[in-house]
Amino acid sequence: MIPPLKEIVIVGGGSAGWMTAAALSSLLAPKDVTITLIESDEIGIVGVGEATIPDILNFNQMLGIDEADFIRATNATFKLGIEFIDWGRQGDRYIHPFSGHGVDMNGFDFHQFWLHSQTAGNSHPIDDYSLCAVAARHGKFVHPDPNPRSIRSHIRYAYHFDASLYARYLRTYAEKRGVRRIEGKIKAVVQAPETGHITELKLEDGQSVAGEFFFDCSGFRSLLLGQTLGIGYVDWSHWLPCNTAQAVPSSHTGPLIPYTRATAKTSGWQWRIPTQTRTGNGHIYCRDFMSDDEAASVLLSGLDGEALASPRVIRFTTGHRQAFWDKNCIAIGLSAGFLEPLESTSIYLIQEGVSRFISLFPNASLPNVFRDEYNRHMRTEFEQVRDFIILHYAATERADSPFWNYCRNMSIPDTLKHKIALFREGGRAFRHEDELFSRPSWVAVFLGQNINPRAYDPVVANLPPADVMASVESMREAMIDAVRQMPTHEAYLAKYRIPRAG
Ligand SMILES: Cc1cc2nc3c(=O)[nH]c(=O)nc-3n(C[C@H](O)[C@H](O)[C@H](O)COP(=O)(O)OP(=O)(O)OC[C@H]3O[C@@H](n4cnc5c(N)ncnc54)[C@H](O)[C@@H]3O)c2cc1C
Repeated sequence: MIPPLKEIVIVGGGSAGWMTAAALSSLLAPKDVTITLIESDEIGIVGVGEATIPDILNFNQMLGIDEADFIRATNATFKLGIEFIDWGRQGDRYIHPFSGHGVDMNGFDFHQFWLHSQTAGNSHPIDDYSLCAVAARHGKFVHPDPNPRSIRSHIRYAYHFDASLYARYLRTYAEKRGVRRIEGKIKAVVQAPETGHITELKLEDGQSVAGEFFFDCSGFRSLLLGQTLGIGYVDWSHWLPCNTAQAVPSSHTGPLIPYTRATAKTSGWQWRIPTQTRTGNGHIYCRDFMSDDEAASVLLSGLDGEALASPRVIRFTTGHRQAFWDKNCIAIGLSAGFLEPLESTSIYLIQEGVSRFISLFPNASLPNVFRDEYNRHMRTEFEQVRDFIILHYAATERADSPFWNYCRNMSIPDTLKHKIALFREGGRAFRHEDELFSRPSWVAVFLGQNINPRAYDPVVANLPPADVMASVESMREAMIDAVRQMPTHEAYLAKYRIPRAG
């Protein structure tokens, strides 16, 4: 009998480390297994990462987390999608909503009917047919109705939250389930001479922590997988040239919006994310096209409220490690790779890494085939998200700055070229291999970025325009009606918020 893994060590106490610790402690309920997490207060955590996508609900549910408790503890607000401003052309505005558009009819995608109605004079944008997009525009929110016949059952949502508070919340969760936390800075990593496997971590204060399997959640440093095991980096900067972020919180002005806002700037873009107590802001840009000083002034001049700190600069290189799992070590979080937060996917990729490891949970023999499957899966996940993010940059008509000229003319991956061609020729969009973003997401961004199909489904094209117009219009009215009856996001959230003094 091959023995099970008995000693698991996690390096890092950011979102990645504590999400890993929480999930493993929930699964293993440590009895025969020890789970130890090491984090350094001196190094700290990156502390950004405020916007999520609906998959976070599955993660929290898997842990058995009470939603109201979580919302209070992390200062969370609800999120129905992302609004993109000035991306395709200056003055453009569209929402990538978490719910689809309209209702598919007789086996045909809704957007085919919408395309037909456009030729018959319908001037409503596709956004007007998504419940989440319409609710977002009106500042409304409600939980999905469990009755599948109700139009409100189409609501899909995620959260905006304080990433540091989320890590703290999961720390309490994991410690209650037996995870041992050690505070201290790792100064040396010991490897077995014959295999190169990691065996022990030596801390500056003289402690030493032995383990059989190690999770590298050490952030951009990639202390174990990158620095110790020497796994190289696949650099995607030629497709996603932004390499710096500046982040700053600001005070609230106006009601809390239930969506993330991503506004394109001359050399990148700026995010605006409302949590209960403040607005998170950040400017992502490429230093080849804009200096840090200029980027800071763009950021500060784009705030709605008063800045609550000085902007913090964070450098990054878009891409991922050549392998995510090598020997007895898996990297999760920033140590595994980074894709800029345009579609709020990093926390999802952490979740996916942990879940895939759990579904492949190895015994102490660590079969290579498990490692290979994990690496294949995570590489595919990263590449699929990458293509979706590149689409926002490449499908632009902006010619107002060297940065946008570069993006408009850059080469793109063949996988993305193929998707764009399918949509351009006939409005066709498919979900490939269970990829994260499904058809409605691709359709929202294709159309939002002005990729208009040359033709649409010939069967739908043969339907009488007046009939199509009538069904499409009835769906639009149903959306507006449903949203009219929803409470405002602010009012809905009030029941979750802890009253604050003053
Ligand atoms: C600008 C920006 C914006 C982002 N926005 C979003 C977003 O909106 N949505 C989203 O999903 N994600 C977002 N992310 C990503 C998100 O922030 C990260 O994926 C997430 O916070 C995980 O970080 P981490 O835990 O991997 O690393 P970190 O938070 O950096 O944690 C690293 C940990 O390793 C420890 N450590 C490192 N070296 C040592 C050592 N030698 N000894 C002991 N401990 C050590 C540190 O103390 C720390 O605890 C964003 C990232 C950036 C850079």
